[in-house]
Amino acid sequence: MVEPIRKSTREEREQWLREAHYNVFQLKSEQVYIDLLTDSGTGAMSDRQWSAMMLGDESYAGATSFYRFERMVQTLLGMPYVIPTHQGRAAENVLFSLLVKEGHVVPGNAHFDTTKGHIEARKAKAVDVTCDEAHDTQLEVPFKGNVSLEKLEKVLIANKGKVPFMVLTVTNNTVGGQPVSMANIKATCQLCHQYGIPVIMDSARFAENAYFIKTREEGFADKTIKEIALEMFAEADAATMSAKKDAIVNMGGFIATRRKEWYDGTKAFCIPFEGYVTYGGLNGRDLNAIAQGLDENTEFDMLDTRIRQVRHLAARLDEYGIPYQRPAGGHAIFVDADKVLTHVPKEEFPAQTLTCELYLEAGVRACEIGYMLADRDPVTRENRFNGLDLLRLAIPRRVYTNNHMDVVAAALKNVFDRREQVTRGVAIEWEAPLMRHFTVQLRRL
Ligand SMILES: *Cc1c(COP(=O)(O)O)cnc(C)c1O
Repeated sequence: MVEPIRKSTREEREQWLREAHYNVFQLKSEQVYIDLLTDSGTGAMSDRQWSAMMLGDESYAGATSFYRFERMVQTLLGMPYVIPTHQGRAAENVLFSLLVKEGHVVPGNAHFDTTKGHIEARKAKAVDVTCDEAHDTQLEVPFKGNVSLEKLEKVLIANKGKVPFMVLTVTNNTVGGQPVSMANIKATCQLCHQYGIPVIMDSARFAENAYFIKTREEGFADKTIKEIALEMFAEADAATMSAKKDAIVNMGGFIATRRKEWYDGTKAFCIPFEGYVTYGGLNGRDLNAIAQGLDENTEFDMLDTRIRQVRHLAARLDEYGIPYQRPAGGHAIFVDADKVLTHVPKEEFPAQTLTCELYLEAGVRACEIGYMLADRDPVTRENRFNGLDLLRLAIPRRVYTNNHMDVVAAALKNVFDRREQVTRGVAIEWEAPLMRHFTVQLRRL
């Protein structure tokens, strides 16, 4: 599908951003020229996906669409039990309702925000065990999303009897769409299993992760993406998936597991939260589109085209000397806002300020993945300033051309060139107790 986009004036954008309380989530899409807020549910479906939708079976129970979807997930992930959900966070909600209890500790390589939210909402703790390399944006290593086995083992030893599972996120979104190597996936699963701890793979971008394994890790160049994916999941106990990412649909998700007791247990939460276990909050036509999208997006050419576009944007930023999390990730470029807006103190949220500046410059909507998203410590209620402060330029699949990427890079360069003049950031006027970044209201200082 294509749609017209409209250019706006700086005066219009100033007014719209003020009305949105300096939070780009609160802008209307028609106020945005190029929308890189997220790659979630924003991809363009293929001719085959649209035609698969026409064959949707809308039976309440046991629809043929469900069995087509189930077969595709079973084939790609190698797990026998599959439950559809309306999106990724719903899969987390259903599965974690069974598994996470107050006082639990859940280690993971930089939990996604909703994953962390679902853990913390149950009065459990999410502990980050990402490798230290991830925190130096200028370091060029191939698998920056990896788990630090040392950190993981410490958490497992210190919290005996309190760890219900470990979350392994592929690719590691929060540190910049950075992949996890096959060697690290296997070592992580083996270490967890040695301590009797199951592993749940948060698999929103598993196909992109498989692409990086194929192109960067020794011994995988001749394997297909589908073969690599199957090997990635071989030792995991379960997976949650946001189909809005690597299945290229506008809405959808699922749980897959090889543990029958987890499957039986989650059914009891799926039915009241999502719906009967063969539709889980989705239409039959949506299940068909997911099945088709999964099949297409686990082919090398599709992923190669996509990831080369991300690299195209990165090459432009290199030309302009704009620092970002290196090397370029799978679905997005993460600009290191701390190194761009060096005159804005961290208490005034540099990355959030940069999203405002970029929008004002050219109507480009990016997303803050930084101190605002990091939220407050649930116990001390202090802001968490210890991670990275990034501006994410997420690239929807099959939507924009490289010309659009050039406009984004030029806009960012204009902001970069006047970075010394930006000395003040934003202050919080209102925030929600959990996952504040979606709805926070700000004041420009
Ligand atoms: C998007 C995402 C989720 C949540 O999925 P939704 O479909 O947005 O609910 C969970 N984990 C990761 C890694 C994601 O990228």
